[in-house]
Amino acid sequence: MSETAFYETFLKETASRINDVELHGHIDHARRNYKKSFGEALKQFTDLEAARRRAAHIRWKSINDLEKYLIQFESTFIKSGGKVIWARDAAEACAEINAIIQKAQAKVVVKSKSLTADEIGLGQAMQTAGVTWTETDLGQFILQLAKEEPSHMVMPALHKSPEEVRYLFNKVGIKTNSAQAIELSLRAADHIREKYLAPDVGITGANFLLADEGAITITENEGNVMLAASRSKIHIVLAGIDKILPSVKDLQTMWPLLATYGTGQQVTSYNSILWGPRRADEVDGPEQMIVVLIDNGRTDVIADEVQRGVMSCIRCGACQYADPVYSVIGGQTYHSTRMGPPATVVEPVLNGMKSHGFFSDLSTLSGADTEQCPVNINFNKLLLDNRRKKAEQETAFSAERIFFTLWRNAMIKRDSPKWKTLKPRRYFLDELFFKSSNGLRKMPEPARESFNDLWKKRYN
Ligand code: SF4
Repeated sequence: MSETAFYETFLKETASRINDVELHGHIDHARRNYKKSFGEALKQFTDLEAARRRAAHIRWKSINDLEKYLIQFESTFIKSGGKVIWARDAAEACAEINAIIQKAQAKVVVKSKSLTADEIGLGQAMQTAGVTWTETDLGQFILQLAKEEPSHMVMPALHKSPEEVRYLFNKVGIKTNSAQAIELSLRAADHIREKYLAPDVGITGANFLLADEGAITITENEGNVMLAASRSKIHIVLAGIDKILPSVKDLQTMWPLLATYGTGQQVTSYNSILWGPRRADEVDGPEQMIVVLIDNGRTDVIADEVQRGVMSCIRCGACQYADPVYSVIGGQTYHSTRMGPPATVVEPVLNGMKSHGFFSDLSTLSGADTEQCPVNINFNKLLLDNRRKKAEQETAFSAERIFFTLWRNAMIKRDSPKWKTLKPRRYFLDELFFKSSNGLRKMPEPARESFNDLWKKRYN
């Protein structure tokens, strides 16, 4: 898609979603539920701010010494019998994964929820290669049926109503008359379970990579990621290189924060650490375990000393509930797996200011995202840095430049006779402000006399 085409699409989708009452209802419903349990889960921390500061430090250390920790992870994981593949970009990662599946002549492939898989377009790549697979995560399964992108980091199908889900299920033969969430998830589980009882290949993500242990961690509530991982002959793990943690000891800080900020739980139902393929004395586990370490632009973000702060993100999704822009336009409008505040920072760096520079304007700079972030990412600092770079590169869209030139001139020459009458001021406000708010905000009537005039009258 060309640079302006992407912007045009974004504007079109935004215009329809800002009036989408149903979407706003789903987001609001999810946020209210989250807030209730989040408040309860927070009670487990005697000193929450200390925990957040510690988590921020751990993540800062991980990203700043990335090379050291990744190499440590690789050598330890290989010693446990695992294999590591380094992929520079999405195409390389997908090609490696398809090659593993084809070499194994795998007939049953299952995939669990993985934002990294979505990021690299793995589903599309497997389809092109003729690989059929089953999603084991309920949210991902719904999206697979709807052929849609995720709309939230933790709850990918947050934008779907139970009625819509029931309709999608019926279309693929999962019969149910009920549109109750519990009933729907039970029906889906029955349908999916047969597939993942004995898969040839199981593809999962990872929440963290532990450098000292050479292990990966998986955090989940449904239990199907571990089922897929432990019952597959080959377990492929997709992990961005930023997922690294220096030590297993860091989990005592990260796990409670991830549970609390991610799903409003004190502890997630299943927290697993996997050290490699099945050992001789173990009863289950894969014969092969392969970790695909994916860069896909991460080193470009990390190379920028300011922007690298965003790589501390642990993908808990909490800032999405706090972000006023996300609440109005929904997650799919970003066309990024980092939808919401992280996307506003990362996408301009990854895709260039020309096409994605406007992402850094998708924030009110209220600071609510930083306040809600368990690893204290300073979004305002990162966004303002991106906005400055955008202005320096002069990639602002011409309409914006014309607007600010007019505005600047008008402000400098407010004594001009043109501005003395109400008409041009009224026109200016209506044209530039009222219309740019899509007619949602009514502009106040301009004052008959300017502040300067009033001041002069009174004191001169
Ligand atoms: S930026 Fe912070 S709050 Fe948002 S998803 Fe990442 S870790 Fe969570």
